[in-house]
Amino acid sequence: MNQPTPEQPADLVARLRATFRGGRTKPLEWRTAQLRRLRDMLTESGSDLAAALHADLGKSAAEADRTEIGFTVREIDHTLDHLAGWLRPEPAPVPDRLGDDTRAWTQYDPLGVVLVIAPWNYPAQLLLAPLVGALAAGNAVVVKPSELAPATSAALARLLPQYLDTDAVAVVEGGIPETTALLAERFDHIFYTGNGTVGRVVMRAAAEHLTPVTLELGGKSPAFVDRDTDLDVVADRLARGKFLNAGQTCVAPDYVLTDPETAAALEPALTRAVEALYGSDPSASGAYSRIVNERHFDRLTGLLDSGRTVVGGVGDRATKYIAPTVLADVDPESPVMREEIFGPILPIVTVSGLDEAIDFINDRDKPLALYVFSESGDTRDRIAAETSSGGLGHGLPLAHLTVSDLPFGGVGESGMGSYHGRYSIETFSHRKAVLEKPLSPTR
Ligand code: NAD
Repeated sequence: MNQPTPEQPADLVARLRATFRGGRTKPLEWRTAQLRRLRDMLTESGSDLAAALHADLGKSAAEADRTEIGFTVREIDHTLDHLAGWLRPEPAPVPDRLGDDTRAWTQYDPLGVVLVIAPWNYPAQLLLAPLVGALAAGNAVVVKPSELAPATSAALARLLPQYLDTDAVAVVEGGIPETTALLAERFDHIFYTGNGTVGRVVMRAAAEHLTPVTLELGGKSPAFVDRDTDLDVVADRLARGKFLNAGQTCVAPDYVLTDPETAAALEPALTRAVEALYGSDPSASGAYSRIVNERHFDRLTGLLDSGRTVVGGVGDRATKYIAPTVLADVDPESPVMREEIFGPILPIVTVSGLDEAIDFINDRDKPLALYVFSESGDTRDRIAAETSSGGLGHGLPLAHLTVSDLPFGGVGESGMGSYHGRYSIETFSHRKAVLEKPLSPTR
């Protein structure tokens, strides 16, 4: 049987734009109905998505629920609870010279047709959470899943049209050629999650149409460990944050910065933490994910000799397994410190103390996240005031991005713009200034 010819990007965007122009996506009722349908998709077909995530990344069902499916359900619920309030026009004080019969306010207008391009590491969450925001803000949306998570991409392409309004939401699968073709079209906003090299490609394409972009990028997120902290607690939290999804998390602690004595005590604590989480043979643990593909496996194994192995250091290419690995005595110029690791390797780099740690961070690209483990309020305050990062986590990696009322996004090389909760409404809307004066002035 002949496959139907896929819709050309220009025709697809024109079709969605016609829906938007017709006003269908604007009423609150349409938006909330779409969000409820998306929620239904996640609850009714969550096991299909979980199976796809397992096929792509070896993700356990529990982790798929916590970090992708359940995560998105919580984002939907938060949005449904608050959307009407977020969208309420906000009055602005009017100067006396305009007369007291003049009113002014801001209102959120949907932008139009939005493009969401997602990466492979949380291939469901990072496509669906932006989609939640784009729909809540009243837009038509094209979503492009990552071709590097093919099972999840196929599942989303099959499921989303079954649940959502296909005149307003479309899934386009594919890799560079398909994305390049989409990027030639005029969108009203492009929301891209992935690496900075492609982020630049996206921004250049967007510039042709003066399309605003949100770029959710990555980089090396440091974790500073102060002296005199409870290192068993620190090691447990570092290991959970680092080795979740086998380190393939944009906000994973990339490396540890600490003084030499603390490093020496942290090494056995991290070894114990890894064993407590995944047992003495993590390859046999159902809770531990695999590397997405051979290219990344080879890249990561090339980083394993950047320091002395404290724990892990082994892998198996056939199953794309790399053990949770901690490296000590790591030179800041070594390969593992020259790129975002994006895998289960945690280097420990030593500095003399807080001042040098702050300089170390500020000498490098602004990170997506910065983590601080310190009992000292002064230390926490100094790092907050003297460094710049997309987010700052004291005592607990990753968790800031699960707080729906916090904006999630980077700064500098780690990205621009933010989303989640009401910040998604800011991102996917235009805040329009409105002034109204009666035509029969009272004075
Ligand atoms: P990826 O390879 O899946 O690429 C992301 C998207 O870009 C895909 O949909 C892909 O098809 C598209 N793409 C790739 N090359 C392209 C090109 N030349 N032109 C147009 N589109 C193209 O994912 P990745 O970039 O390897 O993702 C990993 C990076 O993403 C890491 O740096 C990570 O830190 C970052 N990341 C950031 C966040 C965040 O929220 N800030 C979340 C996850 C990942």
